[in-house]
Order: sequence, then structure tokens, then C-alpha cells
Amino acid sequence: MKKVIINDEEISLSFETNVNLNNLAKLIKEFIKELGEDINRDGLKRTPVRVAKAWAYLTKGYFQTLDKVIGKGIFDATHDDMIIVKDIEFYSLCEHHLLPFFGKVHIGYIPDKKILGISKFGRIVDMYSRRLQIQERLTYQIAEAINTSVNPLGVAVVIDGVHLCMMMRGIEKQNARTVTSCMLGVFKENIKTREEFLNLINTSIKL
Ligand SMILES: [Zn+2]
Repeated sequence: MKKVIINDEEISLSFETNVNLNNLAKLIKEFIKELGEDINRDGLKRTPVRVAKAWAYLTKGYFQTLDKVIGKGIFDATHDDMIIVKDIEFYSLCEHHLLPFFGKVHIGYIPDKKILGISKFGRIVDMYSRRLQIQERLTYQIAEAINTSVNPLGVAVVIDGVHLCMMMRGIEKQNARTVTSCMLGVFKENIKTREEFLNLINTSIKL
């Protein structure tokens, strides 16, 4: 575990980041002051340090690469049937308001000689969601990452998300969901394949 000193305080970090946490904490202190708060009151004293650490974590995806995330997680495929990994949780930050958006990612692909280890999907989703994002780009980046790593016959990604910037401010619509999709290869060309995927992600399995 890496140790860093922020405001004379030793903090341990369990993740990679190149962010200068000292500088970030200083900026957050100014930010809180600017909101009209008393930065010296008890509850806020350590807030800049805590927030700096939290934000470094929430944006750690900038310091990850697809190669490292996938590692040795590519295997030979023995079939070419559709593989679906659904309900992958994600938490991201909207780049327009720096407020969270979160929800579920559903991925489908049809392999061509190579498959990706199941755990890698969650790690790919994390790498791109732990950045400042928009849901449309997040959807596309996940699809592209799978496409370039195992070169399948097709990839489909659907993201169902809720955005706090829509719920807490702006139009204040608490129940609005944003659904985005990216279809590549056979999912784009073949309506039947696309429909099969959409039906499968809509069927909830009761255990
Ligand atoms: Zn927003």
C-alpha cells in the first residue's frame, strides 16, 4: 500500500494515482471557503483531505490501461454463441456538473476464436467509469475495448443510468432513466441478433 502525506497527515492509498493530493486538498479547502463555510469548524477540518482522497479514487481510471486491466484474461473460444454479462454496476461522474451518475451495464458479444475472462468485464467498466464521463462515451468506450481486445464477430453494450445532475438540480426529474447503446459488428448488421440480445438482457433470472 502506497503512503502519501497530505497536510502533514499520512494517508494510505490502495489504488494507483498520479494526482497530487496535497494540491487537490488545498483547492478543495478554497472551494469550501468560497461556498461561505467556515473551514475551521470541527466537521470540516479534515474534509479537504478526505475529499482529495475520495476524488483520486473516483478518477483512478485515468491511470489504468486496457492492457494492464486485461492482463492474461484472454482465452481460446470453443464456440461462437452469444455471451452476455449483465447487471454490472457502475459509478461515474458527469463531466458537466461533476455529480455522480450510476446504474447497470449490460454487455453481449459473439466470440471469434477468443473470449475474455468474465471478471474482466467489470474491470473494463470500472476503468472507464472512474473518470469524468458522459454516459454515451462510456458506452462506446466499453464496446470498443472489448472489440479491440478479442476482435469478436460483434459487441453490444447497453447502459441504464440515473444522473444526480438531473435529479437534484436542473429539471429535477427523480425517475428519469437514461438508456444508451452501442452495437458493433453482427449486432449492428443483424436485427435478429440484436433482438436476441435485447430480449436476454430484459429477462430477469430469479434465483
Ligand atoms: Zn450532468
